[in-house]
Amino acid sequence: MIDKKVRWETMFPDELEAAFAECPLLYLTYGLCEPHGPQNAVGLDALKAHTIACLAARAHGGIVAPPDYWHINELGGYAIWAHEWIGEVPRTWVTSVPPWVHFKNVLYQLRQADAIGFQGVILLTGHYGPNWEDLKTLVKLVQPYIRARLYSLPDFEANTPGFDGDGNSGGDHAGRVETSLLMALMPELVDLERVPDEMGVHPYAMGLSVSESDRRIGERMVADEVRYLGERAAELLAAYQNTELPAPLTTFGQTEALWQEVVWPELLKFCSMQNNWGAVASPPEDSRWYANWRVPELGGGPSR
Ligand SMILES: [Zn+2]
Repeated sequence: MIDKKVRWETMFPDELEAAFAECPLLYLTYGLCEPHGPQNAVGLDALKAHTIACLAARAHGGIVAPPDYWHINELGGYAIWAHEWIGEVPRTWVTSVPPWVHFKNVLYQLRQADAIGFQGVILLTGHYGPNWEDLKTLVKLVQPYIRARLYSLPDFEANTPGFDGDGNSGGDHAGRVETSLLMALMPELVDLERVPDEMGVHPYAMGLSVSESDRRIGERMVADEVRYLGERAAELLAAYQNTELPAPLTTFGQTEALWQEVVWPELLKFCSMQNNWGAVASPPEDSRWYANWRVPELGGGPSR
């Protein structure tokens, strides 16, 4: 059933009802448009996560929500990383929002999943940095108040054997791993002719291992990820049957209260809310990545 429809936005209501009756599991996928080297389409992160989720749903059941391309960037360690890897490009072409917007959106997406009656939700991010750790923290914080069973991960967690079965290269940025994955998933959105002969430092955030990219290895990594997601989906659906469940999260009012009482007090501790990730203190003041580097004061402000 290779062309079985699983994408929420492309389905008729009766098709959604049939897919839901067969397997009440939802995939939520995330990624940031940002430079992924000169050789990959900028949407690689969400294209990857969403397409792999669709393959998993076709193989193991479930429905895949429209992908969320608006993700965390430009502040804290993301700004330091972007200064080093992307640098002074004419325009950034990022689709960025701050963590307090991203994670609140995620919470509202979970509310919709609970209101519809999904029994399991897999949240898959193709964009990294520490946002995936925060996503796991968010899931842990809100799971007691949400009926659907939740599991979140960066896609590289599902790529455990690594690049060539070496067990230690499950994720990268626009190097051999991500480029091979996109070659396997959407070959028309990879153009290795665009890799420059003379390489500067990470042109458009290209991973310097790009010359090792291989579509066949990408296909193997995709298969590994699809299998891993199928296993997590089965676990969630079993947990739904075997766990004492809270009432579903259904209203906007409940969702706001959950955000303010449970998530907000912990948000400043999230990894993506720190001004740096360790070694480097900030991007230089003349960097185009300096403006949003410092996490702003939020206490009591409108974003609360
Ligand atoms: Zn990426």
